[in-house]
Amino acid sequence: MPQIETVRGQVEVTELGPTLMHEHIFIMQPEALQNWGHAFGPCYWNERERIDDAIAKLTRLREAGIQTIVDPTVPGLGRFIPRIQTLNRAVDLNIIVATGVYAFLELPNFLANRGVDAIAELFVREIRDGIDDTGVKAAFLKCAVEKHGIIGDVPRILAAIAAASNETETPIMVHTNATKRTGLDALEALTEDGVDPSRVVIAHAGDSNDLGYLRTIADTGASLGCDRFGIDHFNPMAERIKTLLALLAEGYGDRIHLSHDASCFYDFMVGDPVFANENPDYLLISKHVVPALLEAGASHEHIAQMMIENPQRFFAGATTPAPEPVHAPAPIDDTVSTNV
Ligand SMILES: [Zn+2]
Repeated sequence: MPQIETVRGQVEVTELGPTLMHEHIFIMQPEALQNWGHAFGPCYWNERERIDDAIAKLTRLREAGIQTIVDPTVPGLGRFIPRIQTLNRAVDLNIIVATGVYAFLELPNFLANRGVDAIAELFVREIRDGIDDTGVKAAFLKCAVEKHGIIGDVPRILAAIAAASNETETPIMVHTNATKRTGLDALEALTEDGVDPSRVVIAHAGDSNDLGYLRTIADTGASLGCDRFGIDHFNPMAERIKTLLALLAEGYGDRIHLSHDASCFYDFMVGDPVFANENPDYLLISKHVVPALLEAGASHEHIAQMMIENPQRFFAGATTPAPEPVHAPAPIDDTVSTNV
């Protein structure tokens, strides 16, 4: 039985249970804290309070039936594994973590002068030996192709990600910009470097209601990240659900990942009134989206496929068959497409 690495060690892939495929816990830059910690009043970070808050939120998620979360917080977003290990001791939840780098244009200075092979080697080390000295191993690779496209250091990042994936047979999650359709650019670059599209998830594809774009991605065998339920700024909830139902009706249920892209804390929201009404909620899918899908005619099999089987296949990789393109002749008209 294939094993998957989590913060608490290896878990059989069949034991992952209901899984949210894209959730953060903390997004925060240590350098910001060291320089602007008190710039907006009393220090915004109290280690113990933030960990306790995360334990409470993740405990509620576990009680709602979620057994695993996949956390793509890599360097660039403030990954700090010892903090995750501390809170995971108090919550019975599988937390799967990533290697890679989150940069839209330029590599951070620390990596800027290193070659593709050296950067790939760092990623491979985090998959095979562990992240720094924590003993926690990464189970997937994460990178980004934002609105700017594949320019600046992004080609080098994609090349290093592809090399590490090919060497370790580890799946890849790419943050993309749905409006600019950069999921297609990401897939083209990765497949040119020898990556099997069925090992790739196009994160934030669900920000789009353009069924043409979504079908083009899914028809390669790649997965669609319908992973921002609750972030109405990018796509309102009702539209997300309508598009998801259309994809299910067309038979794409075997390549959809569900999640919220939530976090217990985001430092970039501190003191910024733009985010005053943000209330990230890890429970929206359990409490709102799944009931709405069932009510609209989706089956319990669809839900199990998206929340249990697809995560397992994404991580198990070559040991399970690649998804067959099973979509039926399109019964849905394209009025759903509003081209975000
Ligand atoms: Zn994210």
